[in-house]
Amino acid sequence: MKQGKLLYAGKAKSVYRTDTRETLIVQFRDDITAFDGGKKDTLKNKGRYNAGVSAFFFEYLEKHGVKTHYLQMLDENRMAVRTLSMIPLEVIVRNVAAGSIVRNYPFREGTKLDPPVVVIDFKDDSRHDPMLNEDLIIALKLATPAELRKIKKISLEINRLLFTLLAKQGILLVDFKIEFGRQGKTIRLGDEISMDSMRLWDKKTKESLDKDVYRFNKGDVMTTYNRVARRIMTGAARPAAAKKKTVAASRKGAGSPGRAAKPKTKKR
Ligand code: 5GP
Repeated sequence: MKQGKLLYAGKAKSVYRTDTRETLIVQFRDDITAFDGGKKDTLKNKGRYNAGVSAFFFEYLEKHGVKTHYLQMLDENRMAVRTLSMIPLEVIVRNVAAGSIVRNYPFREGTKLDPPVVVIDFKDDSRHDPMLNEDLIIALKLATPAELRKIKKISLEINRLLFTLLAKQGILLVDFKIEFGRQGKTIRLGDEISMDSMRLWDKKTKESLDKDVYRFNKGDVMTTYNRVARRIMTGAARPAAAKKKTVAASRKGAGSPGRAAKPKTKKR
């Protein structure tokens, strides 16, 4: 597969054309940003950790019946994907209150959200990704009601699958953001699922294992990304004795995610 012209450069990824219309290449760069690009750095190896974790999750989800854009890894940073027409929505699924939901609503950080809360934002940096509701999504013609129902259903299924998978590795899936696109009439998961787009806590210590380490200067973010990537992909970084205990703890821990709550309609 030949890498062609740059199609789009985002804050941490670049998308290239290839010699076939149906296929694109996503390059995970070493750039990291937070607060709408207000904080920026380039950190060696960051791209490959996120690429590896994203590929791992895409493969896992595909194996469990979720349609994604993922085709294959080309090298440690580059992923071949199906060309999608992206829908400018950011779907956020929350199992535990943290981040903006705590800043904007009277939730205490760490409160379990059962059923999980699904929030959909308009992907528009210039407007700071305002929260949408179903009426706005339809009025803006961003998706049809049937597509929206499907997007919510797939998002909750992804949540169920990843919550369970991560719990086995001693990790609490607090929340995550995903994006979808159309391939003809088929809705597929696009973009990435990585430490940049998820909030992950160690189940026992509640230590952050994601971009919050960078956002809030909680430590060395690359050490965290390296450790958590290994932990997610291989179950490594936990002594064998701790594994059984963590699995047992997960059964009485935050529980498993239930069904969708209605999306909030107020702006954040
Ligand atoms: P919050 O709304 O609390 O800031 O974010 C909720 C979850 O969605 C977090 O896991 C966060 O990392 C992710 N998220 C929200 N907006 C974005 C975004 O614009 N880009 C990325 N990569 N993740 C986001």
